[in-house]
Amino acid sequence: MKEVENKLDCPCGRKNPKGKLLAYTDCCGRYIDYWDMQPAPDAEALMRSRYSAFVRENPAYLQATWHESQRPADLDFDAATQWLGLEVKQFKVTGEDAAEVEFVARYRLSGRAVRLHERSRFVREAGRWYYVDGDQF
Ligand SMILES: [Zn+2]
Repeated sequence: MKEVENKLDCPCGRKNPKGKLLAYTDCCGRYIDYWDMQPAPDAEALMRSRYSAFVRENPAYLQATWHESQRPADLDFDAATQWLGLEVKQFKVTGEDAAEVEFVARYRLSGRAVRLHERSRFVREAGRWYYVDGDQF
């Protein structure tokens, strides 16, 4: 990905304490581009980084962070999908190595506005968080 794009606001919309949007390199890019060395530290960070990876169409990161029990063999990105934003509603630790994140992701598909509201489950194995599955509302 080009350097200039890395300076842009992170697609996940996370802000610093002063309310300023974080740059991609200071937010999800730290995990997406350095997954081997620096995995996301918690389920919310992983969830946000996976959203950003969808926006930036990074199948390798999405597969690497998908629990192997649920991981799809390959991923298709619909060129007609235009991502509009992410809102994390709730981040809940449900066990020593388990957590849930409830979020709303908005996108436009061929001109139609879509609201994806999901509670996702994550597990931690060998120090890394993985997306398992989720329930849509
Ligand atoms: Zn981010």
